Amino acid sequence: MNQDLLTRIRALEHQASFLEPAPLLRQQWNQETQLFADEFYDQLEDMPPYVTAENKGEGIKDYPFTETPKELSEILQVIQEHLVNISLNAASGFHFGYVPGGGIFPTALGDYIAAVLNEYAGIFFASPGAVRMENKLLRWMCQMIGYPATALGNLTSGGSIANLIAITTARDQKNIKAEMVKHSVIYLTRQIHHCVQKALRIAGLGEAIIRYIDMDASFKMDTIQLQQQIASDVSQGLNPFLLVGSAGTTDVGAIDPLAAMGTIAQQYDLWFHIDAAYGGFFMLVNDLHPQFRGIELSDSVAIDPHKGFFLSYGLGAILVKDVAALYQSHHYRANYMQDALGDFDELSPADLSPELTKHFRALRMWLPLHLYGLNPFRATLEEKVLLCRYFYEEVQKIGFEVGPFPELSIMIYRYVPSKGSANIFNEKLVKFLQVDGKVFASSTKIEDVFWIRMAVLSFRSHRKHVERCLQRLKEGVAKLMERDRQFS
Ligand SMILES: *Cc1c(COP(=O)(O)O)cnc(C)c1O
Repeated sequence: MNQDLLTRIRALEHQASFLEPAPLLRQQWNQETQLFADEFYDQLEDMPPYVTAENKGEGIKDYPFTETPKELSEILQVIQEHLVNISLNAASGFHFGYVPGGGIFPTALGDYIAAVLNEYAGIFFASPGAVRMENKLLRWMCQMIGYPATALGNLTSGGSIANLIAITTARDQKNIKAEMVKHSVIYLTRQIHHCVQKALRIAGLGEAIIRYIDMDASFKMDTIQLQQQIASDVSQGLNPFLLVGSAGTTDVGAIDPLAAMGTIAQQYDLWFHIDAAYGGFFMLVNDLHPQFRGIELSDSVAIDPHKGFFLSYGLGAILVKDVAALYQSHHYRANYMQDALGDFDELSPADLSPELTKHFRALRMWLPLHLYGLNPFRATLEEKVLLCRYFYEEVQKIGFEVGPFPELSIMIYRYVPSKGSANIFNEKLVKFLQVDGKVFASSTKIEDVFWIRMAVLSFRSHRKHVERCLQRLKEGVAKLMERDRQFS
């Protein structure tokens, strides 16, 4: 019996040892992967930012999992054929849609090392270095927005989770128990990112009263109406508890009047949360600082390094002014975690977010920050703002109407034809750009008006990319006009 057991263990050990490649094989895989990455980078500038392909990744669906191994070269080939180039190419500098991400190369190096080390990054006891790295990044961001030393936060997978953590914390700090939800009031504008409404629902606040406050012509919250609305809600015996502002809206990049909102929040004892997922890192540009005045009055801020810090997707952050509030909502004690208690110099991320085991995601930001230093990040951010302003000027010269002057690097524009529906015309124009595939733009609708959006945020977008966008627009308008003439 015992002999059988040992024989079986030996056999299994032999099979299991395949999970640890021999050094030579590891080297070969490293090289093949590196080659794959290099080829991608070599072709990137000539790759279309968007492809409307017949093949919608079918090959991935049909590629079977097997008991036996496959060659890495074959697997990479499947990725190349059925994934790369049949999608929105978010790595392209010609991507001006939605909120473009980044993908600076050292993010990949950080992820690679993080995956190799597999540090247990959620608990100080398990990996003091990884936790210090995360908390150092968070303190650096807290300092950037002007938070005091009591502030900390958490590195999340993105802005949506960051906003969710903030809203959960606000709910608990303001003591919104189930029976209170229906009488509790939240203040937003219609320009808030939809992940905030989603977070409210997930956090059990779906039945709370939401007051959508009007905006001025630049899509910023009207704080006079805000104040009146809160006063009226208080006088009716309701329970105002949460004010959410934007520092860079998705549609037009608008920054709400944060200072005035912060003052009102203090006056009525509301939790003041700011969604700076897109806009936050523009604070690194000195000239833009005044626009963020008042951000330090907030209780929490969501910010996305995978947008404004140009990292590859998978890194957001929540910053909370009083870390005790974040801790109260997110820590828990379990007997099997007792060894992790005791002395610690740093709060553990696991006590500050819903996650326990987490990706060692600090490294993907910490490494590029050291490798490049801050200067190129500041310059790139300023370049994006100026490129957007340039586009704002130039697109008017070719006959387009524009929305508000871009405060950051997002703006809206549309072509108003002499006859026919402008909405339909611009819808067709966006389609033209997408099918044409030379640049990618996305659209939005504000009060039933269809607008095309210009979002300059890819670190790869430079002047020539913007020029090509202008040129494609000119061509698109000419084509659509020609078609209209033919059919009228
Ligand atoms: C992108 C974005 C979000 C959502 O963040 P994810 O990282 O996509 O989850 C929230 N708010 C704003 C303003 C955004 O631009």
